[in-house]
Amino acid sequence: MSSECIFCKIVAGLIPCDKVHETANVLVFKDISPAAPVHYLIIPKKHIPSLLDATQEDQAILAEILFVAGHLGKTVPELNRNFRLAVSTGPDAGQVVMHMHYHLIGGRKLTWPPG
Ligand code: 5GP
Ligand code: ZN
Repeated sequence: MSSECIFCKIVAGLIPCDKVHETANVLVFKDISPAAPVHYLIIPKKHIPSLLDATQEDQAILAEILFVAGHLGKTVPELNRNFRLAVSTGPDAGQVVMHMHYHLIGGRKLTWPPG
């Protein structure tokens, strides 16, 4: 846990969130500023600042995140089995919160490229 990190505080229950799903290593909650009818953040409970910081030991956590995304794609009716996963890495890619997170977005027709 990083005491400065907003997502670590959410994991620790110090900041409330609208929790959607949880596994041993992964937490899913609604984005506070949704870009689509469904906009979840899928995060490792462990503080990993970005994908660049993930180590070999984190491989199982990364796989768990993708598995959870697929599970949500199948079980959240609003997604209708269609969604996009995006993980911004670094400021030029738009990463603001330095605790790795996947955006799971859906519930409407999405365009490409995202900009
Ligand atoms: P980034 O721009 O780093 O890829 O995405 C950070 C995301 O976290 C943004 O979409 C932002 O709306 C969301 N966010 C920031 N602070 C909070 C918070 O305190 N609670 C929730 N639920 N989402 C947050
Ligand atoms: Zn953190």
